[in-house]
Amino acid sequence: MTIPTESIGSIPRKRELIEAIHQGLATIQLKALYQASLQETIKLLEQTGSSVLTDGEQTKSSFVTYPLEGSTILSPNGAVIPFADGHTRQLPALKSGPFRYTHYADQYLKQAQQYTRLPLKQAVISASALSLLYPTEGIEGYSREEFIGDLLNEHETEIRRCFEAGAYKVQIDFTEGRLALKLDPSGNLLQQFIDLNNQVLSRFSEAERSKLGVHVCPGGDHDSTHSADVDYKDFLPKLFELKVKNFYLQLASETNRKQVLATIQQYLKPDQVVFVGVIDVLNPEVETPSQVRDRILEAADYIPLSQLGTTDDCGFSPFCDDISTTRDTAFAKIAARIEGTKLAEAALASQQHA
Ligand SMILES: [Zn+2]
Repeated sequence: MTIPTESIGSIPRKRELIEAIHQGLATIQLKALYQASLQETIKLLEQTGSSVLTDGEQTKSSFVTYPLEGSTILSPNGAVIPFADGHTRQLPALKSGPFRYTHYADQYLKQAQQYTRLPLKQAVISASALSLLYPTEGIEGYSREEFIGDLLNEHETEIRRCFEAGAYKVQIDFTEGRLALKLDPSGNLLQQFIDLNNQVLSRFSEAERSKLGVHVCPGGDHDSTHSADVDYKDFLPKLFELKVKNFYLQLASETNRKQVLATIQQYLKPDQVVFVGVIDVLNPEVETPSQVRDRILEAADYIPLSQLGTTDDCGFSPFCDDISTTRDTAFAKIAARIEGTKLAEAALASQQHA
């Protein structure tokens, strides 16, 4: 019996790389640093025993802004996301149309493929997150409807390009899903997000959707969250309406995991697979493999084994400049997940034979 296990995506960048970016090093030197960082990250990910890798997002500015790096149609004054510890992140705002990505995520995948023969999954940002870039006051000569049309096409193009480049899975980061219920407890905003994302997902075949996944979490930046106080029981029924097969859910850091698992059990559809978070990325203490095993055995009481996988609660550094977690801790936690998942497989196999 095998329990699939996958990372979410990001690994903290090296301090030298972040300093070089801030110092505005010449492009050619920066490129060399990025490549060295990518190569080393992939090597260390291989050493954790992972059978599916990511590029560690070493060359992304952040999980949400990467498609617009260098774009000339943005102003810095977009929506502000407040975190529980008081810090904020501000999104850019669109100034004019037409909306086009400057980067598609298949470029990261292709770079990473140079350094490993193992399968690579690729994270992309959701259409719903980027929908927040359109200003509430509107843009003269470029309606919200036109923007949404362009956005959905760009998002679809990006996913197809990742598939064409050989992505093992494409994971859509939907961290604003749970946040939507905090911003609008009526559920209208969340429903809008689900509908918007499903408009794109409907364009894919069943076979393609089996390689599509969605990651949700309460946000993870500088060891703080933006929507951990939103109850999963209000969120999960809507989440599982998304037309993808795979769901990557933060779970390890939940205060009442059993209750969340019972909600998953109630709403997970028969053709869906849930990768539960067994690593708390906000806690510097590295889990032991047996702790991980016990979290999986707990989940297996609620979720059929054919629908269960494991993951980390989130990426370790979704924003490039977040070094609140060390690289060593991130790799050690991933290794613990791999080892703990193997222990759970053995324990469950012996239960089945008993
Ligand atoms: Zn996350």
